[in-house]
Amino acid sequence: MKEQLLSDRVRGIEPSGIRKIFDRVPLAKNPINLTMGEPDFDVPELIKDAAKAAMDQGRNKYTPTQGIPPLRQAIAEHLKSNGIPFEEVMVTAGVSGGLVLSSLALINPGDEVLIPDPYFVMYKYVVGLAGGTPVFLDTYPDFKLKPETLEKAISPRTKFLMLNSPNNPTGAVLSAPEINALAEVVKKHDLFVVSDEIYDRFVFDGNHHESISTRDVPTLILGGFSKTYGMTGWRLGYAAGPAWLIKQMITMQQYSFTSANSVAQFAVLKAFSCDMSKEIASLEERRDMVYEGLRRLGFKPTRPEGAFYVFTPVPPGHTSESFVERCIAKELFVIPGDAFSQKDTHFRISFAASREDLRRALNVLEALKP
Ligand code: PMP
Repeated sequence: MKEQLLSDRVRGIEPSGIRKIFDRVPLAKNPINLTMGEPDFDVPELIKDAAKAAMDQGRNKYTPTQGIPPLRQAIAEHLKSNGIPFEEVMVTAGVSGGLVLSSLALINPGDEVLIPDPYFVMYKYVVGLAGGTPVFLDTYPDFKLKPETLEKAISPRTKFLMLNSPNNPTGAVLSAPEINALAEVVKKHDLFVVSDEIYDRFVFDGNHHESISTRDVPTLILGGFSKTYGMTGWRLGYAAGPAWLIKQMITMQQYSFTSANSVAQFAVLKAFSCDMSKEIASLEERRDMVYEGLRRLGFKPTRPEGAFYVFTPVPPGHTSESFVERCIAKELFVIPGDAFSQKDTHFRISFAASREDLRRALNVLEALKP
């Protein structure tokens, strides 16, 4: 009886493939946990001190729904200094909050949302919850969305294109020419783009993040603090874009999250003066370690150009889940690719882990190599 009370909307929605694996980690004796989508560095002391001070100063109450004015201003200045155009900005409860609000504000039942595959786990569900239909755009094997693939998928029902560069789970980063080519198709078809730029600071090899919003494309930018400052538990992000959309998202935030975390908003005012380049350089070194290590073993990973994940084909004869089960039998926890994709051919390693754990992981993978 009780289950029958569940709405049709949520029926059949199961915990994400990441959670299912993650929940098994504590059951292992000496696990190597490469499952999580978060950096292994802590929040900078300056920001932690500001959080403690904010709490002591009584910043413990509701904030304005759209975020505290000095933070909105700091985000706006940050975006302007990076040449990112927008009309309005609001503070959200993580990029996750921004994804929920933008889906509610944009999607009508039956609308199609174009999602490059592989994709961050939340996309297909928030689109579905809002009544939309996800349309997956295959980006294998190099994980770069091609303009032809995009153009072919556009239909009269297309509502917007979801972009995520640098990408979770592949580490792919769209270059300036690749963004240019996509922007041309987007403009030709008068499309709107929701651009999840949460990994904007995590770009390697001396390159930098390119936002499609700088190509005269109408864009909602979803940005965050979770990854850049190691504060995934603080639940803070922002959305920047056209005034008509941000205004409606603020109203929807009023009727859902109310506001983002107050203490975190005050503390993060200090974030803009924190230099995270050492932490990011250290992740780049570990990218090299894992990528080269996998190749030496005969795996064929795509070289991550950003974020902190490597996406690698499983050896022949395996599904992603059967391969991950073999890893887990040896206490190595990684995520099967089907959690992020319509295909079932890869596995994701997060290399935001200690060198010791990454070495142990490569030892385990040596025994399972193709
Ligand atoms: N987008 C992507 C691509 C992500 O990888 C994540 C976190 N794993 C999120 C959004 C959610 O981030 P937040 O913690 O800001 O909600």
